[in-house]
Amino acid sequence: MTQSKPRRGLQTRIVRAEDQVTPGFESFAVPVARASTVVFPDLATMRSLDWRNDGQWRYGLHATPTSLVLAQRLAAIEGGNHALLQPSGLSAISNVYFGLVKAGDDVLIPDNVYSPNREHGDWLARDFGITVRYYDPMIGAGIADLIQPNTRLIWLEAPGSVTMEVPDVDAITAAARARNVITAIDNTWSAGLAFRPFEHGVDISVQALTKYQSGGGDVLMGATITVERELHVKLKAARMRMGIGVSSDDCSLILRSLPSMQVRFEQHDRSALALAKWLKTRPEIAAVLHPALPDCPGHEFYERDFTGAGGLFSVVFDGRYTPAQIDTFCESLELFSIGWSWGGAHSLVMPYDIASMRTAAQWPHRGTLVRFYIGLEEEADLRADMERSLGTLV
Ligand SMILES: *Cc1c(COP(=O)(O)O)cnc(C)c1O
Repeated sequence: MTQSKPRRGLQTRIVRAEDQVTPGFESFAVPVARASTVVFPDLATMRSLDWRNDGQWRYGLHATPTSLVLAQRLAAIEGGNHALLQPSGLSAISNVYFGLVKAGDDVLIPDNVYSPNREHGDWLARDFGITVRYYDPMIGAGIADLIQPNTRLIWLEAPGSVTMEVPDVDAITAAARARNVITAIDNTWSAGLAFRPFEHGVDISVQALTKYQSGGGDVLMGATITVERELHVKLKAARMRMGIGVSSDDCSLILRSLPSMQVRFEQHDRSALALAKWLKTRPEIAAVLHPALPDCPGHEFYERDFTGAGGLFSVVFDGRYTPAQIDTFCESLELFSIGWSWGGAHSLVMPYDIASMRTAAQWPHRGTLVRFYIGLEEEADLRADMERSLGTLV
C-alpha cells in the first residue's frame, strides 16, 4: 500500500502518521475528540455540508462527536429535541438574547432572575436599543397585561434565584403563546430533573451545566434546550456568529458526571429538606424559603409541577439581627464555604441584601436573607455546624 507513495521524511511521517486506533476497542467513556480543523474527504463533501444539521462536522468550534453526545443526552433529560452547548450558563442566557432579540424589541424579566441575566438585559437596553421590563414573579396570568406588540421574549426562572418564589409557569406561557411571544426558562435549579419545562409550554430551557451536571465545582458550561428545530437553528446561528464553542475535554468531564446526577440530586434534596424543616423550628429564623415548604411563595405551584428540589434554598433571619451579625454567622460555619456557584459536593453559604436587588416586587422581609447550598456531607454534621453558628447570634 505504501509502496506507490514516495518515502517521506521523519517529520512528515510523524505528522501524517497512518496508524489506526485498535479496532474493536470499546469502553463506556465517550472518546474525547479534539479539533479545530475538521478534514473533508473532498471538496464536494465540504460544499454539501449544512451548518444547521447537528451531525455534520464542519469546524471544531461548532461541534465534535464528544459535544454532540453530551448535547443529545441533555436534550433527552429535559424532554427536548436539541441542545446547544455554551461555555457557561450565562453565555447560554446571552445567546438567547442575541439569537432572538433585535433593536426595538421588548423583553420581560422576572424580578428575581439570576442577577447576571438582569445585568445582561440592562446592558442590551442601555446600548442596543431593546427595552427590558421586570415583572413580579408571582404575576401569573397577569403577565398578559404587560405584553406589548413589540414584546419578543419572556424570561422565567423556577424557582427564582436566591428568593425562591415559584412562578405559575403554565399561566405565563399560556399568555405568551396567545400573543406569539417566545418564553425561555432558566431551569438550572431543577437540573431538568425535577421540572419538565416543555410540558408546561416553555420554548427554551437554559441550564447552567456548571451546577449539578458538572457536580464537581470544576467545569463551566451551559446549554439551551429546545423542542423546535427552528428556534435551535436561530440560537445556533447567533452562537456561530459570536465565535462561541466548548471544548471536548470539558464535555467529557460533564459526560462523566451525568450518570450520577439524579442520585446526587436526590441526596441533596433529602438533606436540604431535612435541614430546611429543622431551621423552620429555630427561633432565629423568620421564614424558610424552600419551595417544598409553605413559607415559600408559589409553594402550590411547586406541589403542582415539580417532583423534587435539590440542595438550594434560603432562609430569612429574624429582623432583630444586624447584617453584621449574619455575616458572623456565615463566617463561623465550618462546613459551609463562602463562594458563588453550587451543584458540587461541598456545602455553601451566602448572605444577600435583597431589597437592593428588586425593582418590580416589594420585598416583604426585614431580616437578612441567607442562601444555603446543601452538599453531600453528612446531614447531622451540617446541622450541628448550623446549630453551633446560630449560637453566635445573641
Ligand atoms: C450559576 C447559574 C447560572 C450561570 O451559570 P455559569 O455557568 O456560572 O455562568 C445561571 N442561572 C442560574 C440560576 C445559576 O444558578
